[in-house]
Amino acid sequence: MMLRKRVLVTGGAGFLGSHLCERLLAEGADVLCLDNFFTGTKDNVAPLLGNPHFELMRHDVTFPLYVEVDEIYNLACPASPIHYQHDPVQTTKTSVHGAINMLGLAKRLRAKVFQASTSEVYGDPDIHPQPESYRGNVNPIGPRACYDEGKRCAETLFFDYHRQHRLRIRVARIFNTYGPRMHPNDGRVVSNFVVQALRGAPITIFGEGQQTRAFCYVDDLVEGFLRLMAAPDELTGPVNLGNPGEFTIRQLAELVIELTNSKSKLVFQPLPPDDPQQRRPDIALAREKLGWEPEVPLREGLKKTIAYFDQLLRRLPANLFVP
Ligand code: NAD
Ligand code: UDP
Repeated sequence: MMLRKRVLVTGGAGFLGSHLCERLLAEGADVLCLDNFFTGTKDNVAPLLGNPHFELMRHDVTFPLYVEVDEIYNLACPASPIHYQHDPVQTTKTSVHGAINMLGLAKRLRAKVFQASTSEVYGDPDIHPQPESYRGNVNPIGPRACYDEGKRCAETLFFDYHRQHRLRIRVARIFNTYGPRMHPNDGRVVSNFVVQALRGAPITIFGEGQQTRAFCYVDDLVEGFLRLMAAPDELTGPVNLGNPGEFTIRQLAELVIELTNSKSKLVFQPLPPDDPQQRRPDIALAREKLGWEPEVPLREGLKKTIAYFDQLLRRLPANLFVP
């Protein structure tokens, strides 16, 4: 009998988690997908439910978990600002208590544990692009703090468990990632613009659209996850994973309009507080240590994302999803 690696994915029914589960199954793992379905849905993993090597479990990571696995990917946490600000106390609990519970589980099992951290640990950065050595510029009391500080504290816990208990950890700092299975009401910029353009609704640019982001296609990111998990134990991270191609939000809007042939007009709305002005990963470390870099250009990734949302919106009532 072939011994399969048993892998736990928390937040596995979310956007990134569902792609990760799919990829792990393709690599021959036994996957335990855990989710409380706050922002994720069963639909995201519906095609996997018939696979005997896939198991879906409803559970909240803020509560302890007793299972037997070899590796843990801790992705559970709402990622879009509107979702993580909806219940900010729960967001901090998810990051902090969730990390403690997953680290405790990893300690008992001597399992490798991966943390989905974020470029938000750099806050509104005053150096550009951001290398891992940059310590960030985070407002600890603003509306984004529940997420940013929660994720920073999770990193602290990962490194303390590593030093104190010699746990095998991997910390990835993920920059803006997009692709199929983002939630249409998720509020993040790519899903908002694509849904708005496909509906012919106004494209909502916050501020003047001069702020920048760098967008990574989901398949590229998942490849980076697997490489980091498989890397030698010395490579604890943090490692930046993202696409270094940087665009203004206005450029993104114009590209989405072009690729959808949309008649949507741009509308300008107030910039949310603490919205970072610029963001781009320095991925020298991932290139050197993992031999990793993104391969999918924004234009190509957007085409796939647009095709996904086009199919999805055709199946849904017109009034249901207008971000
Ligand atoms: P998502 O919202 O689609 O997925 C998060 C998943 O976690 C959802 O399925 C949600 O239901 C689940 N979840 C939330 N709270 C939970 C809890 N207490 N217990 C169990 N499950 C819970 O977001 P995503 O884009 O797939 O993000 C996944 C991870 O990657 C998050 O930790 C996020 O912070 C991180 N990340 C994502 C991006 C990005 O651009 N997508 C960037 C940086 C970091
Ligand atoms: N944004 C925008 N219109 C939208 C949604 C977002 O202009 O409908 C902007 C937002 O203000 C931010 C950028 O797009 O400057 C990226 O926002 P997102 O919520 O996707 O991610 P984050 O700010 O966490 O990088």
